[in-house]
Amino acid sequence: MPLKLERIKEGQRVIHGAFPRYAEYNCAMKYMAEHGFHNVKFVMPPPLTKRTEEIGARYSPDYVCTPFKTLLGSLIEALEAGADTLVMVHGYCRLGYYGELMEQILRDQGYEFDFINLSDYDTWKKRDWLKVIRRIDPKLNIPKFVQAARETIRMMEHLDEVTSEYYQICGFDATGGEVRRAYRRFLAALYTADSGEDIEGAYKRVKQDFQTIPLNKPDRPLRVGILGEFYTVMDAFSNLHLEQKLADMGVEVHRWMNMTHHLLHYGEVKNLAPKIRDLCEYTMGPTSTANIWYAKTCAEHGYDGLIHVKSANCTPEIDIMPVLQNISADYKIPTLYLTYDSQTSDVGLMTRLEAFYDMIETRKRALS
Ligand code: SF4
Repeated sequence: MPLKLERIKEGQRVIHGAFPRYAEYNCAMKYMAEHGFHNVKFVMPPPLTKRTEEIGARYSPDYVCTPFKTLLGSLIEALEAGADTLVMVHGYCRLGYYGELMEQILRDQGYEFDFINLSDYDTWKKRDWLKVIRRIDPKLNIPKFVQAARETIRMMEHLDEVTSEYYQICGFDATGGEVRRAYRRFLAALYTADSGEDIEGAYKRVKQDFQTIPLNKPDRPLRVGILGEFYTVMDAFSNLHLEQKLADMGVEVHRWMNMTHHLLHYGEVKNLAPKIRDLCEYTMGPTSTANIWYAKTCAEHGYDGLIHVKSANCTPEIDIMPVLQNISADYKIPTLYLTYDSQTSDVGLMTRLEAFYDMIETRKRALS
């Protein structure tokens, strides 16, 4: 949709920008890019597929973690779709170096593009953010940008809240699919939203749908807490639709880790470290403290099981596994450890999930 292009003054460059696919957050990236800046047309990379993984893996070093390969594949697909400007996130593990490496790999393949590597601006100081923003749009309209930023944040909050509710109820849908259809309608509305009203309208509709669709839910269903590495745990393609598979088995699925909790409002749950001091003294990685705290919280609240999700070669999440084993032993909560790479198969995952389900279901019956 060339929604703002008509307003661009003659002679000014239009950026065809892209951000790699990441769960369903690309709707928010699109909204921000096209409503916050007057010279950006967002190029939506195609949904992640086996091809994305394969082309990413082809040009990646072998030992690198799987999200690198998926993100690289998605950037290549964005370039193929017409993007001329790529944005890459930064992070507090190897992710901080990935943008530089990806840029080099893409240039070696002959692609021409402008690369905005957020690692180059990662002091979290306002002046650095302003530099990025001005680099994209030197004639930025600040009130318009601020309004778009507010609406984008609301979109992400709604997306996370609705997604969380969806995985808690969709396994008990008494209509044979209406919950899933309502959720899909909501996602479609976010991807095409053109105003704050569109976003709020989509949110109100899906909340109403979720309240009125009949459910067949036991008083105390099996409850499983999912935690793990930031990208793999949130991105359904990367974790082979783990949450949907569990929900389809009749499990109430919970996951704390999302953009809202870990990025937008992390400050509100600060001081997590003292709450896990009995289990670990030091921070071990970008998500270690939150994951250990969440595993302990689920155990304390009587969840039936935990699933720890990580990419192969993810050092921070490997480091927390002994702590999770201690939680599992202390609280007698079964924990399944899943490691994903581009070779992980759907069939292998289903086999492990079915065995895990049988175990927690038998355990629950024995305890009740
Ligand atoms: S958290 Fe782990 S998988 Fe994710 S980018 Fe960092 S090292 Fe890689």
